[in-house]
Amino acid sequence: MKSSVLYRISPARRHAHLFDVSVQLEHEGEQPLTLYLPVWTPGSYLVREFARLVYEVRARCDGQPVAIDKIDKHRWQLAPCRGQVEVEYEVYAYDLSVRGAWLDQFRGFFNGNAVFMAVEGREQQAVLVDICRAEGMDDWRVATGMPRRGAAALEFGRYGADSYEALIDYPVELGPFTHLQFEVEGIDHHLVLSGRQRVDAARVAADLQRVCAAQIRLFGGAPFSEYWFLCNLVGDGYGGLEHRNSTALLCNRDDLPAPGAAEERSDDYLTFLGLASHEYFHSWNVKAFRPAAFTPYNLHQENYTRLLWAFEGITSYYDDLLLVRSGVLDAARYLERLSHTLTGVRRGAGRLRQTLEQASFDAWIKYYRPDENASNALLSYYTQGSLAALALDLDLRQHSEGQVSLDDVMRALYREFAGSERGIGEQEWEQVASRVAGRDLRPLFDRLLRRLDDLPLAQQLPQIGIELQWRQAASLDDKGGWKDSVRPRLDVGARLEADAAGVRLAAVYDDGAAQAAGLAAGDIVIALGGLRVNRAGWDKLLERYAPGETLTVHAFRRDELLCLTLECRSALPQVAGLRLQAGDWPLREDWLGLPSAAKA
Ligand code: ZN
Repeated sequence: MKSSVLYRISPARRHAHLFDVSVQLEHEGEQPLTLYLPVWTPGSYLVREFARLVYEVRARCDGQPVAIDKIDKHRWQLAPCRGQVEVEYEVYAYDLSVRGAWLDQFRGFFNGNAVFMAVEGREQQAVLVDICRAEGMDDWRVATGMPRRGAAALEFGRYGADSYEALIDYPVELGPFTHLQFEVEGIDHHLVLSGRQRVDAARVAADLQRVCAAQIRLFGGAPFSEYWFLCNLVGDGYGGLEHRNSTALLCNRDDLPAPGAAEERSDDYLTFLGLASHEYFHSWNVKAFRPAAFTPYNLHQENYTRLLWAFEGITSYYDDLLLVRSGVLDAARYLERLSHTLTGVRRGAGRLRQTLEQASFDAWIKYYRPDENASNALLSYYTQGSLAALALDLDLRQHSEGQVSLDDVMRALYREFAGSERGIGEQEWEQVASRVAGRDLRPLFDRLLRRLDDLPLAQQLPQIGIELQWRQAASLDDKGGWKDSVRPRLDVGARLEADAAGVRLAAVYDDGAAQAAGLAAGDIVIALGGLRVNRAGWDKLLERYAPGETLTVHAFRRDELLCLTLECRSALPQVAGLRLQAGDWPLREDWLGLPSAAKA
């Protein structure tokens, strides 16, 4: 039995944003020793090449220097040697995202995939990690879900993990953060807030407690024995990454409630709670049970699966729905948020070019690498996936008169696959769902996942007591929501952003008036009908024209002035509105987790 691989990480050189890392192990084999850094982070489907941030790699064997060379973009190999090996290197850490590593004089953060080299062939062995305190860090503490192997709670010292894959699934926050602890169903939960902030942390913890309880109840148990929300609060940022017993979140400090803030939750705060709910739900859906394509993760290359719609789309479906079921969001506001999702999908032509399965498979080169044409070419397996999950859930509920729902499918997947060595095969997800439903769901999945059709929600929603309308946008900023009437409006078929020189076309939609006129994404419109225009005055200027009329557009493409003719067109009915129908709808109340008058 070989001794464990031991990692040491020190934040001493924080002004240079460098973590000093070493790997120590006993090497007795005949084969040369190879170490590598993953090329991607599980949960974020893009090859990111973490090895590009590694400098100054040196190796010793039994205290004597030994040669170590790069053999490809992310692997290093030692010259033949046997004995006690130590490899040292530094990692540049100035990535504020939740996927990499950060270090300055105020805080540190790392994901193992960015800092700890794996030892090829020994990935299944347990590892130890010494997180070292440096001078001048007396008020710094350590927050991580990584099991302690001697370190005191929240302290520097020795931690460990059962395998390399486990090691890189425990992000670590370092610094003088705010820490709160709360219990859910007997399990310790930790809320860690870093960054400059004045937040009512107790209120955030109380809301998270309700959301977490709803999720544990849904699955009938949790796959972890403790859980950590690691939140980095900044002026402008958004992101989250799921892990087995924690999540790293990046959010705007102003989105969280200030001490003494109004009782009502703001839309921005609900977005934060939705993000936290999303990542927490992933502890089951993609962590406890996951695609066979990720079992185990191949950390050297892309891992292809057509199932991302199920792992991201269904998680996106439940994130807000569970806010309703836990009582932090009311049904009317939930429908408002759902109408934004419907509107976002309908505005782009991506839904006519990619199916959900294709969008899942090509995430690595398409969704994660959007360009100016993304809204015409790409379907989001998050938003469209969440709507497909809604369609599936409603189909299950309606067919069984409320006896079977998507909750049952999720529980079945958790029961069958959690803790097993086996991932879910590409066809298997649908087979489990069909078995739970007690009928063949293949025709439904063909429609939801493999065809470019619109989803059947326009038929389904009224049957459970929800009215759906499709209407014109009332303004440039109209994201969706029910409106009894909307004034007719012209629309050029582009996403507009304010620009110092005029109005920037962030996206130009296929078959819209802007495209027909010859405008392209990136163009800056400076005048409409011979008058200077800015974003705030855009609609007011167009109000004086009628469909079919033409007007002159002046715009810059790079430094070249264009003079084009734009034909006015009515806005398309691409904005969704949803509202609750009056009366008692037991299927609806059951779905939303609300008390039904019929049941009462
Ligand atoms: Zn997700």
